[in-house]
Order: sequence, then structure tokens, then C-alpha cells
Amino acid sequence: MATPVPASPPALTDFRRIVIKVGSALLVDSAHGRIKLAWLASLVEDIATLHARGCDVLVVSSGAVALGRTVLGFPKGPLKLEDSQAAAAVGQIALARTWAQILGHESITAGQVLLTLSDTEERRRYLNARSTLARLLDLRAVPVINENDTVATNEIRYGDNDRLAARVATMASADLLVLLSDIDGLYTAPPAQDPDAAHIPVVPRITAEIEAMAGAAGSELSRGGMRTKIEAGKIATSAGTHMVIASGHVKNPIRQIREGGRCTWFLTSANPVRARKSWIAGALEARGTLHLDEGAVAALRRGASLLPAGVKKVEGSFDRGDAVILRGPDGGEVGRGLVAYDVTHALRIMGRSTAEIETLLGVKGRSEMVHRDDMALGVE
Ligand code: GLU
Repeated sequence: MATPVPASPPALTDFRRIVIKVGSALLVDSAHGRIKLAWLASLVEDIATLHARGCDVLVVSSGAVALGRTVLGFPKGPLKLEDSQAAAAVGQIALARTWAQILGHESITAGQVLLTLSDTEERRRYLNARSTLARLLDLRAVPVINENDTVATNEIRYGDNDRLAARVATMASADLLVLLSDIDGLYTAPPAQDPDAAHIPVVPRITAEIEAMAGAAGSELSRGGMRTKIEAGKIATSAGTHMVIASGHVKNPIRQIREGGRCTWFLTSANPVRARKSWIAGALEARGTLHLDEGAVAALRRGASLLPAGVKKVEGSFDRGDAVILRGPDGGEVGRGLVAYDVTHALRIMGRSTAEIETLLGVKGRSEMVHRDDMALGVE
């Protein structure tokens, strides 16, 4: 086995936007199918500490199916698709209400967000979900996210919240993803099968060797085993998000991580904002061009968003969320960005002030033509 590059785990206080994924097995008592309230309150206490420090927190919570199946009296074991959809419909209500109540005890507002695979994979829907999350965070609310299991069929579902949480983390440009699990990290082999399995505290990079260490099994209530956690790690770390797997079988699990409790860190060398910008700059085919005036180019270079007022000419055929090229008065490319309006609306509002958007379009649209987070400038 190659000697891993020594790397020390980062401090929890270094992060400013954290996604915390909670598995069903931690949240729901398998014998009675009820939420473990005392444990959840201890986790929410940790969330409140992060929140009070100014950190943005998003929760990805499983447990809808586990809760609903008890209410509906389904027997143990795998469920048919329509039964798990029915169970999720029943359980999600209780799940969201409990999160809202317990976060409310800490004076934190919760917002429920249910996502499907296409919300994270299709660009327009992705941008929509992303701006909802951003707005909730601006308002200092904690989004409580789950897969929309009631409409997700086998072909179009994540099925496990580990990968969903990783996509949420990249979508929200989080710098840390915490997977709270029934195991305290990655071992050289599945510890239940191999008594000599050694715990790995830091994974600097996910290699084939690391992938081989993950066994396949998940527990009875949760769908993801270590394999889906490693998949989540690949999604997160390639987008500039660090990931940590820690045990949730303790009270105050986040405080335990901060105090050096056993866990496995998956490190990234990227930075989430830079990773997103390089995706915008390189990976997308531009569908149009916005020609900007001098003032807009200067404002962009100072880090501002592009407002309709600074756009002189619009070319191409694009939809909201498509990539467009931004050109200065001399025709040179200034950068690229994801445009917030389709071409018809862009033509109507170009050169006009933000205050006029509602009158011109009949709807209250976004103030920016291209938001600065959705923009990659040529020379930065
Ligand atoms: N979305 C499922 C639920 O809330 C859980 C998926 C998972 O366990 O990863 O019941």
C-alpha cells in the first residue's frame, strides 16, 4: 500500500458554509419508527453554535420513508416503489415539522426543500434550486433538504442522500460536507468483516485504492453504504468541497468533530467558487453574446454583477441559465457567465435600469442580467 501523503485535518472553524447530512438510521429509532428527539436536539444545538458564528448551514435529512412506513404499518424489509413513495409522503410531513420545531427552539427558521435528480442535473432547474437555497441562506434560514421521493421513480432518483448531499454542497458552493453516519469514517476494509481493519483519518485524494476499501453494505434503514459515501466524496472534492464522515451515534456529533473525535476527512485542493468559475469558463458552450459598455466592464472587474443597464447589444438565441460571452466595447471577450434572462427578455431590458424590469416584463425578475457568482472573467 502506498504511503498516504501526510495531511492534517482542517479545523471546523475554518468553514463558512456547511452541509450536514443526517442518515435515517441516526434519526429514526428502528424499533418504534420514531424520531430520536434528544439526539436531534443535540445536533441542532451544534447547528445553532455554527449559525451564531455566522456560518451558513444546510441540512440534508433522510428519514421520510423510515418514519412513514411505521405509520402505514408496512413490514420490515425492502418496499415496492409505490409503497416507499407513499411512506415518504407520510413521513416527510413529520420529518419537516420536527426539524422546524427543534430549529425553532434555537430561534432558527427552517425551510423545506425537496429535490429530484433533474433539479440538480438540468441547468435551468439547477439554477432555480440554487437561487432558492442562496436566498434562504441570505435570510439566515436553514434549508432542510430531502429527495422528493414521492415523485422520484427508480430511473430518475438519487435513491441515497449521500450523493444528493454532495450535489447540494456543490450547488450551494459549500466549503464543507459533513456526512453523519453509523460508522466513524473509512477503514482499510469493512470493520464488521475484518477485525484488522484500520481507521483512516485523512484521505488527501480519492484513489482506486481508497475506493476498493469501501464495502457495499448499508444498514437496514439507510440506503447508502460506504460506497455511496466515497461517490459523494468524489462529487464534493472535485468541486472544491471538503468532506468529513463522522459517527452520529454520539450526542453533539459536530462538536465531537471539532474536538478531534474520530472521523475521516476527504480533502480537496480546489476552492468551491474557483471550481464553479472554471466550469462556467470552460465546460459550457456559449449560446449568445452580450456587448457591454465601458462602465459595465469596469464594474465587473471590480467584482460587481452585470446589470441590464450596462448591456448595449444582445446576440444569439439563449434561454435563462445558458452560458453567454461577455464582450467589451472593443469587441474583446471580457468573460463568460450564466445569463438570468432568455434572449427575448434580455433584448427588452438591455440598457434599462433595474427598477424598470417589472414594468418592461410584467414580472419582477432578477436585478442582475448575470450575477457575479455566475460569471468568470478572463483575467482574474
Ligand atoms: N430520501 C430517503 C428518505 O428520506 C432516504 C435516502 C437515504 O437513506 O439515503 O427516507
